Amino acid sequence: MEALTYDRALAYKDEFPPSEYETWQPRKVMSVLLEIDPMADKDCSLAIGVEEQYGVPAPQMSPLGSEKVLSMKILKKHYDALGSYLHVQSMKQFRTGTVLDFDKFRNRCEEISEYASQVLTSSVFNVTLGSFSKINCAECDKPIRKRIPPGQSEVMAECFECKATYTLTDEGDGKIMWNPHQHEIKCANPDCDQKIFLWHHELEVGRHWTCKTCNVENSIVLGVSYKELSDNTPELTQ
Ligand SMILES: [Zn+2]
Ligand SMILES: [Zn+2]
Repeated sequence: MEALTYDRALAYKDEFPPSEYETWQPRKVMSVLLEIDPMADKDCSLAIGVEEQYGVPAPQMSPLGSEKVLSMKILKKHYDALGSYLHVQSMKQFRTGTVLDFDKFRNRCEEISEYASQVLTSSVFNVTLGSFSKINCAECDKPIRKRIPPGQSEVMAECFECKATYTLTDEGDGKIMWNPHQHEIKCANPDCDQKIFLWHHELEVGRHWTCKTCNVENSIVLGVSYKELSDNTPELTQ
């Protein structure tokens, strides 16, 4: 189950966030894959045919093969349960006379083995077809490629190189709009109108910059604001 899940992850290696490379539990790996592609754990069949009319499915299709994928459902059902057999019975289990149900264990193993065989004998393997949009990052110029799952009109994308983030919006007719998550920040000097742009991930307490116009140092700080309460306002309000 681990090998099949890691193999599946390898098929998505260009889209897999490097921050998740340490993840090893198959269920967590599969969650990352499902976030990248909601179809990552679904079985599929491939077929090709010549369209007689553009955009209308071909009347005659030739099948190329089918793939069975180790799904999240199966991982949830069996992975942890199987792991518990790796350990010797605990002293508590031994003292209370808990005995392993070997018939149940055998049935579980047979079910897993049957499923794994179906996955491994699939006639096509690791299909990851999808629609993608691609740009060069506005910050570091490295290419970012993002999958647009069917039926989803808005997707978040992150540059793995510099952490810049974007919202991708489907504008229809195959057009995808990339909106960078940038904020316009005005110089804190009230006599100065200079503005700079910061990425969302750069907004953190302690970050500072020198204003190019008035030469003051601006810093991002936490602030507390207050308002006056009138006499008849209850002291505690929610
Ligand atoms: Zn970048
Ligand atoms: Zn300034």
